[in-house]
Amino acid sequence: MAKKAKFQRPAGMYDILPGDQQYFQKVYSVCENIANFYGFKKIDTPILEDTNLYSKGTGLTTDIVQKQMYTLRTKGGDYLTLRPEFTPGIVRAYIGHGMKNLPQPVKLYSIGPVFRHEKAQAGRYRQFHQFNLEVIGDGSPVIDAQIIQVFYNILFELKLKNLIIGINNIGDNQCRPYYKKLLLSYFRGRVESLCVDCRRRLKESPLRILDCKEEKCQRIISQAPQIIDHLCNECHRHFKSVLEFLDEIELPYHLNPYLVRGLDYYTKTVFEIFLESPKKTEDKEQFARNALVGGGRYDSLVKLLGGEDEKASGGALGIERVISVMKAKEIKFPKSAGAPVFLAQLGTMAKRKSLRLLEDFRKAKIQVAESFGKDSLKAQLTMADRIGAKYTLLLGQKEALEGSIIIRDMKTGRQETVKLEKVIKEIKKHLKK
Ligand code: AMP
Repeated sequence: MAKKAKFQRPAGMYDILPGDQQYFQKVYSVCENIANFYGFKKIDTPILEDTNLYSKGTGLTTDIVQKQMYTLRTKGGDYLTLRPEFTPGIVRAYIGHGMKNLPQPVKLYSIGPVFRHEKAQAGRYRQFHQFNLEVIGDGSPVIDAQIIQVFYNILFELKLKNLIIGINNIGDNQCRPYYKKLLLSYFRGRVESLCVDCRRRLKESPLRILDCKEEKCQRIISQAPQIIDHLCNECHRHFKSVLEFLDEIELPYHLNPYLVRGLDYYTKTVFEIFLESPKKTEDKEQFARNALVGGGRYDSLVKLLGGEDEKASGGALGIERVISVMKAKEIKFPKSAGAPVFLAQLGTMAKRKSLRLLEDFRKAKIQVAESFGKDSLKAQLTMADRIGAKYTLLLGQKEALEGSIIIRDMKTGRQETVKLEKVIKEIKKHLKK
């Protein structure tokens, strides 16, 4: 029985074991290739940022700021927070590096871990990875459509089919205050029937009640006034235009008047991408709860964080969520080829020579696997078989003394002895066949 480890990993945080790395690499490479094609440039920002950046940017009334931040006090007395999302850090970098002076819009992507102290459950972790896109310096609806298109194409390229985009427009500083008032008076009249969380939301951020999944709140929400009926002309025009672009590129969407998303800074377009209802009910629940991608427009954030009045839009894809769907759907992709050559050795002198030979192969850019810790030839040949090596090099005491080495063809079992200094040339010839 495996010994119980003395130290456990922190709750909600996971080791990404070697067997899972191929999934991460695949998702990273598809994300980066597609983002590059659409003209996005990579940016890395620190994992820790000034806590105030999130209180101000993400917003004081959000769950993230109220409950989910990992905040620490440095030895110098500053408060820093492990990034719970990318956008505020990227906007800070945009302002700080004067990216306003670059040709606009500035299109940026990032990949990395984010941290949220959430209730750990299926599909909801405390450390997870996001692929994030931002387009700063452009307010046109086509930008929103293009961001959705990039995420959609990434998921499609990863062989995730049956995707559906949920989309809404939550207004801007012109029309939202009035809609908020309408909502407030509607919910105030029904406060007794709301859940505890929604009663709190009523004071701080009534829009977020629309997002509540509690059954008793759902009944009230379904009769609430809808933002679409109260958008100003500008938001209405913007929304219509985004939908027309999505129609043009034939992306499947559905209008979701209750989609508000949990962040304070969104204006106009908000969207999420889900898998469309799977057949099995338990999958349905899990997938329906868990969006793969979420994002939206944030036209006031750059100014709020000290920049000029720049409009912007963005979104983030949850990498673990995407991988869990890839696994559940048994999506396979070609495995990268293992080492074509295995180096087996017998005896101390052969081991010494093998160490040097391995270096020569590395310089010749030929991948060679070995198991120097094993002394039995049988164990080494089993290993060579397991990794699927085409050739095994056998270096025993006799060969080491003579300055030769045996090349064994693993398929036919044929063996030939060659001079040690010629072995790289010979292997190159064999591999070319
Ligand atoms: P958000 O930043 O909340 O808009 O989330 C964007 C995407 O990140 C979501 O659609 C999910 O795919 C993923 N995500 C958000 N929160 C978590 C979490 N706690 N664990 C795993 N993935 C998450």
